Amino acid sequence: MNLRTLAAAVAAVACFAATSPTTLAQSAEPDGAGVRQGKLPRAWPTSGPTCAGKPAFEVHAYNEDFYILRESGCSNYEKPFIFLLFGKEKALLLDTGAGETDVADVVGHTIDAWLARNGRTSIPLVVAHTHAHGDHIAGDAALRKRPNTTVIDPNPAAVQAFFQIRNWPTEPVTYELGGRALDVIPIPGHEPSSIAVYDRQTAILFTGDTLYPGRLYVRDAPAFIQSVQRLVDFTDGRIVAHVLGNHVEEARTPFLDYPVGTVYQPDEHPLELGRSHLLELNEALRGMHGEVRRLALRDFTIWPK
Ligand SMILES: [Zn+2]
Ligand SMILES: [Zn+2]
Repeated sequence: MNLRTLAAAVAAVACFAATSPTTLAQSAEPDGAGVRQGKLPRAWPTSGPTCAGKPAFEVHAYNEDFYILRESGCSNYEKPFIFLLFGKEKALLLDTGAGETDVADVVGHTIDAWLARNGRTSIPLVVAHTHAHGDHIAGDAALRKRPNTTVIDPNPAAVQAFFQIRNWPTEPVTYELGGRALDVIPIPGHEPSSIAVYDRQTAILFTGDTLYPGRLYVRDAPAFIQSVQRLVDFTDGRIVAHVLGNHVEEARTPFLDYPVGTVYQPDEHPLELGRSHLLELNEALRGMHGEVRRLALRDFTIWPK
């Protein structure tokens, strides 16, 4: 092999490496990666130190077309997050919270403000769920009473039918809000109807209770292991700006969580995680060889239940 053919061979290997299926999610320049930007709060000042006068929800605008609602621990200690995304044709609400709250009113006011700002009078609302646990669906009944609103029943058959997922759980599908495509990825394991949602506009991956800074309860170990691998595969080569789950139970102190039932968490971990946490979770599960056991990592704990 002469020098020229050697150089060609090296280039071919380099080219093959660049297109192999283990490419890292990356951007050529640190310029925001071409995704729509937004801001997350430095802290969520909900739930304390006392409950008097605290609203049931804090509403945070990530940007003008994406809102995060955080339920107060004074309403329910689970303090779940709810997500509201606007496309040109539809809005999507992901989860309806825990406990009895005025969630339908809060969502309604947020939608009304969006409509006024955009010079519109209505937009259909679709209500989906990260999964069917009670702390994610408690506002469903109130939202069903809203006009122009479709609430997807929180069970696998209804989720599959609505999103037209033919091969559950192996087939991700696309759902269009109008100039805003979402990928819906089935991830049973924490709960049978669990889904993840990837918003291509902001490059945010919503992971429900499957990955968040807290106790990751594993109900169906084989399904959970496969679902986490599916998320790793789905995000392979894709930009992931944030991984947003639906609770915070960790403190900022590594390996430390707030006990179940804690209302006020003055030193809680940020909500947002990254794809590295997903890889860390996957690696830890792989290392358990099918026998999922309790394991505390820096920012979350794997917790068979
Ligand atoms: Zn759950
Ligand atoms: Zn939950």
